Amino acid sequence: MKAMYPGSFDPITYGHLDVIQRALKIFDELWVVVMVNPKKKPLLPLERRLELIRELFENEPRVHVDNHDGLLVEYAKNRNIKIIVRGLRAVTDFQYELEMAIANKHLWPELETVFLMTDERYSFLSSSLVREVASMGGDVSRWVPANVLEALKELYGKGVL
Ligand code: ADP
Repeated sequence: MKAMYPGSFDPITYGHLDVIQRALKIFDELWVVVMVNPKKKPLLPLERRLELIRELFENEPRVHVDNHDGLLVEYAKNRNIKIIVRGLRAVTDFQYELEMAIANKHLWPELETVFLMTDERYSFLSSSLVREVASMGGDVSRWVPANVLEALKELYGKGVL
């Protein structure tokens, strides 16, 4: 069965990678879809975010990396993918995720959203935390893979360890 994992991935973190690895135990193929959110001004351009994720999964043929601008449901219908995977960290994620899951189901009743609980190591980890710490020159090497660290260094200079 195939599933999709949509998000901003700005940038991708070990929390996302953990969700992807676990989703691969459940689903045969996973589409990681970088969504273009017109309300969010991204730190990393879309192309860079896609490139970083592709590098991380170049040896994993079951992971497909793509992007989508617009309604997630349209993407899902076009590819006939009926499962959305999302991660849940704290109760603060719950309200938003519930709303999205219900809205998506209204738009396409065949769609199911599956939630994977965060690993306790990453329960506090978010892309916004990474962006904030990196922008102030803090060490984010425990939270993101090496290629993402390089991308952040290119942006913020050598202050980011
Ligand atoms: P959004 O922009 O909608 O917050 P993100 O790109 O940040 O999306 O994340 C995509 C998905 O990954 C979301 O479901 C989010 O809850 C989940 N996620 C992000 N970080 C973690 C983490 N540390 N552990 C588990 N799930 C996570």
